[in-house]
Amino acid sequence: MLIQRLISSDKYGIKCPYVMDPIGICIHNTANDASAANEIAYMQRNNNEVSFHIAIDDKEAIQGIPFNRNAWAAGDGNGQGNRRYIHVEICYSKSGGPKFEAAEKIAAQEVAALLKQYGWGIDRVTKHQDFSGKYCPHRTLDMGWQRFLNMIQAELNGASQENGELYRVRKSWGDAASQKGAYSIKENAIAECKNHSGYNVYDSNGNCVYSNGGSQPSQPTPTKEKIDLFSRVAVKGRGSKYYDWVKNLTDYTGDMKNPCCLFMAYPTKGEVRFRVSPISEGRYYSEVQNYYSSKGIYDEAGLPNVPFDKIQMRFDLPGYKIRYRAMCNGCWLDWVENGNSYMEGHNGYAGLGDGTPITAIECEIVTR
Ligand SMILES: [Zn+2]
Repeated sequence: MLIQRLISSDKYGIKCPYVMDPIGICIHNTANDASAANEIAYMQRNNNEVSFHIAIDDKEAIQGIPFNRNAWAAGDGNGQGNRRYIHVEICYSKSGGPKFEAAEKIAAQEVAALLKQYGWGIDRVTKHQDFSGKYCPHRTLDMGWQRFLNMIQAELNGASQENGELYRVRKSWGDAASQKGAYSIKENAIAECKNHSGYNVYDSNGNCVYSNGGSQPSQPTPTKEKIDLFSRVAVKGRGSKYYDWVKNLTDYTGDMKNPCCLFMAYPTKGEVRFRVSPISEGRYYSEVQNYYSSKGIYDEAGLPNVPFDKIQMRFDLPGYKIRYRAMCNGCWLDWVENGNSYMEGHNGYAGLGDGTPITAIECEIVTR
């Protein structure tokens, strides 16, 4: 999971002055023995025109700069490296050993996830050395660049097998008899398709993802875009110190023990609105509205160290709804579903609303 700890927009001018539409990923080693959290904190604190998007150590991957802004990392001035690539630093490369190897493993997973997110192949992975000649990522190069690329490819293969995606080479989606093969890796299906004029590549939903002149090349079954929802809470006793962001239902936010007091959420598209009702007040605080912001500025609901017993969420895009539920007394309550109105769907809020604190929350955006 990628933890977001985005830089303050005050520092955009020094660290990431240009808007960027990324075309690939560039790998670095820190040549240092600091943790990812320290590398990000140091990068954000100092006033040098040196920056990177992600730092990864043996435990976590932290993003410090939005992907739609550039970073100063490639040493190629205003070349493609600095202006079009997502820069990934792998920590603990100075001393190497098990901590570095663990960091490389997590890096392979995160890079694979990014490739999938952007729909890129392994050919989009580059190294600092490609842009400026600097021997970086030094230890990854010492241990074998192709070896590291293979680690990423293995993650890509594993991921596509896990979600069961298969790319079929056929004349048309409906003509199953014409199938020349089915591949878990899209690039392999496309390579096969290139040998067969009059064929296309289809994904598992029947969408044509590549055409070599097959019939009705695009008869796409419209599939709705997946919208990710990130959420986090701060609990009583921690003031404004939030737990890490949670993506969709990959985890719950909260610790199942201490009352939730502050809540934040943002979707990758559209706007989510939410409000909480503190136990001591017996009424909702004002609604907060969040959307994906490259500035990393988010509004929060609640007050530090003031537990709430009800939470409401709604989501504005037609065709989608938000699902959420709360844990009270160690048990998950029923799911609540709302569209653009709190009254749509059932219940209208999560929590018992009787003074029982909420100790964890799960939420996601789904299609309807
Ligand atoms: Zn480098």
